[in-house]
Amino acid sequence: MLQSPNSNRVIKRVMAFAARKVSKLKRVKHRFCPLADMEHNLHRRQYAHTYCNDPKLTPEEKELVKRRQLVCWAHAMKSLPAHRVAGICLHEIGHLLAGPHDQDSRFTQEMAADVAVLGALGVEIKYIGKNNDNAIDLRQIGER
Ligand SMILES: [Zn+2]
Ligand SMILES: [Zn+2]
Repeated sequence: MLQSPNSNRVIKRVMAFAARKVSKLKRVKHRFCPLADMEHNLHRRQYAHTYCNDPKLTPEEKELVKRRQLVCWAHAMKSLPAHRVAGICLHEIGHLLAGPHDQDSRFTQEMAADVAVLGALGVEIKYIGKNNDNAIDLRQIGER
């Protein structure tokens, strides 16, 4: 898990919620990723990714990618509020559930991730504020 007490707690809660609905999600691991840091520096809204193609992944991590069990984060996520971390976490889970649709457009892939989360987990990911930040209402995963 991630070395950030608050974000770590949020991710644990999200994963526990998600795994109650789709048990294979129990095996999903989260890591900080240098590529995710670079992506965040280029695109400030980008905090995480799945299907990592970092050549420096360990063989174990590569296996997790193949099994759709790895979510990579930028360190910048540590300063996000809980509803944003939870929204991003669920969106990335959506990418894992939807599978790697490389032939689809980026837009279609982003839609497919949120549709998968709504279908499999019953949570609607919202896009809020002037920057269309992805977030959820924490009550949807049983938080107050
Ligand atoms: Zn990565
Ligand atoms: Zn996405």
